[in-house]
Amino acid sequence: MNILIKNGTILPMNVADDMPKYFKGNLGIEGNKISFVSAEQSDVDNFRAKHHENCKIIDASGCIVMPGLINTHTHIAMTLLRGISDDVPLMEWLNDHIWPIEAHMGYNEILIGAKLGALEMLKGGTTTFVDMYPYEEAVAEASEEAGIRAIVSPCAMDFRMPHFEEDWRAVQKRFSNSKLVSMMIGVHAIYTCSPDNMKHAMELSEQLSTGIHIHHSETQDEEKTVRERYNANPTEHLVNVGLIKRPTLAAHCVYMSDNDIKTFAENNVSVAYNPQSNMKLASGIAPIAKMLDSGVNVSIGTDGASSNNDLDMWDEMRTASLLQKVNSMNPCVLTAYQVLQMATVNGAKAIGREGELGILQEGALADVILVNFEKPHLYPHTNLISELVYSCHASDVETVIVDGNIVVENRKCTTMDETKVCTDAQNTIDRLLNQ
Ligand SMILES: [Zn+2]
Repeated sequence: MNILIKNGTILPMNVADDMPKYFKGNLGIEGNKISFVSAEQSDVDNFRAKHHENCKIIDASGCIVMPGLINTHTHIAMTLLRGISDDVPLMEWLNDHIWPIEAHMGYNEILIGAKLGALEMLKGGTTTFVDMYPYEEAVAEASEEAGIRAIVSPCAMDFRMPHFEEDWRAVQKRFSNSKLVSMMIGVHAIYTCSPDNMKHAMELSEQLSTGIHIHHSETQDEEKTVRERYNANPTEHLVNVGLIKRPTLAAHCVYMSDNDIKTFAENNVSVAYNPQSNMKLASGIAPIAKMLDSGVNVSIGTDGASSNNDLDMWDEMRTASLLQKVNSMNPCVLTAYQVLQMATVNGAKAIGREGELGILQEGALADVILVNFEKPHLYPHTNLISELVYSCHASDVETVIVDGNIVVENRKCTTMDETKVCTDAQNTIDRLLNQ
């Protein structure tokens, strides 16, 4: 489909530091790519002349037109487990609450949870996410149906390695030609994956020419366990095993020394910062301001909905900034625009899709969202960047386009029956909790 988005306020996320960040303008989409982004009426006229009737026109008056958000660390099927266990520490949360119920979750339960997660994300303007979970084949299936871009990470873990093999093969077989689904290799964490299994995952990521997605240095307990087991801290262990030489996306990274940060910068490791999950599980505060100063690419993730408890990237962006400010007692760190970069361009870089995603420019993939600014909590309009990060909600997202397809229009999902997705999730969790 060809789409002309007219009269919007365009926030392309690719302007030089000293230039205005947004302008009144228009955007054209041909097929699954952006064909122009411009303030010139002549570009609109040319686009209309070229496509005549074969063109959907969206009036974006009163809306910000910006790249879809990129959530670089989540477990979307865990939306099914939202609220089942709160207010306990990470290891107790995993051992006593999450893992026992996950043991009863197979392909279908994960498919149902993933559909709910995909629906929530699309309606909030997230167009790409990086996932890690068992049965990533089901997450991939849900994503194709929803029309959201997914990077699924079948996950190496000592106690489920046979399943890992099966899962990545299934994803590879079924989705290798997908326009929306691609794969990273997951390594759950150092404390759940032996060096031998890690090396196996690394070899596989090399064969498949893809990156590694890992939980890293999330808690003090993890740091202690890794030190006792390997006589090294988690980052030193990644270096010793050699994993750091693969393109790596490391989630959390709460306990990072200055040396660890230097190692990440030197090895181009990207970080997924998950402030709300780290706060809720009282894991700690990642030294993000230091990482950014050292040149580490930092993106934003929500983590799973059962440790957050939502997949709302607007809320996450706001928390990302506020937490770093109070932690450093410095209101200047993590500016609103920096946070927007983390949720768009930095996210794209973290998944090796720089220039293709997280940006509005000619030739980029058409993942575009319209945010309605005609709302009381967004008035008066003085600084739209500030309003996006500090005042906006997921429910302000009006229209969502992924890969050139309109998947949310006037706040309604066009690809899935929203009522059925919610009802299926309710029935499934009721059954899991009552067995
Ligand atoms: Zn996680």
